[in-house]
Amino acid sequence: MKIAVCVKQVPDTGPARKLDPVTNRLDRSGEGALNATDVNAVEEALRIKEAHGGEVVVVSFGPTRALDSLRKALAMGADRAVLISDEAAAGSDLVATSYALAKGLERESADLVLFGQQASDSDGAVLWAAVAERLRRPLVSQVAGLEIDGASVTGKRQTEFGYDVISAPLPAVVAVSDAINEPRYPSLKGIMGAKSKPTETLSLADIGAEADRVGASGSRTTVLELAPPPAKGDQIKIEDDGSAAEQLVEWLAGRKLL
Ligand SMILES: Cc1cc2nc3c(=O)[nH]c(=O)nc-3n(C[C@H](O)[C@H](O)[C@H](O)COP(=O)(O)OP(=O)(O)OC[C@H]3O[C@@H](n4cnc5c(N)ncnc54)[C@H](O)[C@@H]3O)c2cc1C
Repeated sequence: MKIAVCVKQVPDTGPARKLDPVTNRLDRSGEGALNATDVNAVEEALRIKEAHGGEVVVVSFGPTRALDSLRKALAMGADRAVLISDEAAAGSDLVATSYALAKGLERESADLVLFGQQASDSDGAVLWAAVAERLRRPLVSQVAGLEIDGASVTGKRQTEFGYDVISAPLPAVVAVSDAINEPRYPSLKGIMGAKSKPTETLSLADIGAEADRVGASGSRTTVLELAPPPAKGDQIKIEDDGSAAEQLVEWLAGRKLL
């Protein structure tokens, strides 16, 4: 079974994200890290390979320095890495990103395409749906448990009210949540071995992508203005001494919210 895992390098800044007022984009200049739920996706791919055999290839769309993060996936055990990287790609929104990734994935013809649930820099959690649509493949998202039987995939999908169990024929696209597994740490042997694993850096031309459908010119979204979040309004803290419900009702009624 051939499994492609889409992974993204994200700024390793925790909650302290900065916006660039000139480009109106996120400042991605600092340290980069492999996006957290993408590590779960790599782990799941490795477990499927261990059970069924095959190959795990990690695929990313980003600047060349994203290779540093792809090496972590290789150190965990992925077989090879493909980075789609092109100066013309900077400023790609969801539509442009899904186009470029789908072009790169078409070239791989994987039986299963795995995604993390969302990336910490954009938190959109829709890219996998757009890629599945472009590839015309079924999608199961928010997956906390995955089974493969060779011809189909069955995902235990987290919902607000419990779990849905959804099956889809292969080839398919699956986005996993961080509840699916506990990722392994790369071993020293894995880290050393990652240095000699194959990595490919492909331009937009290499994947047959039309340059004007990627980057700022190929994006359907434009950021017009940036502003800091508004200051928080009046706040009260209610310590529950047994009268919290009463105090809350009083507070809401005082603002004519009841
Ligand atoms: C106007 C605009 C300009 C932007 N410019 C940039 C930019 O210059 N650089 C930039 O990095 N982002 C940029 N973004 C954000 C980028 O478009 C989104 O991160 C991307 O489309 C992912 O969409 P998402 O938020 O739905 O998915 P996410 O929630 O971010 O990710 C879901 C999953 O998709 C996979 N994934 C996400 N991104 C990638 C990727 N690039 N390669 C492989 N797998 C991936 C991962 O598995 C991830 O867990 C821009 C967005 C806008 C609106």
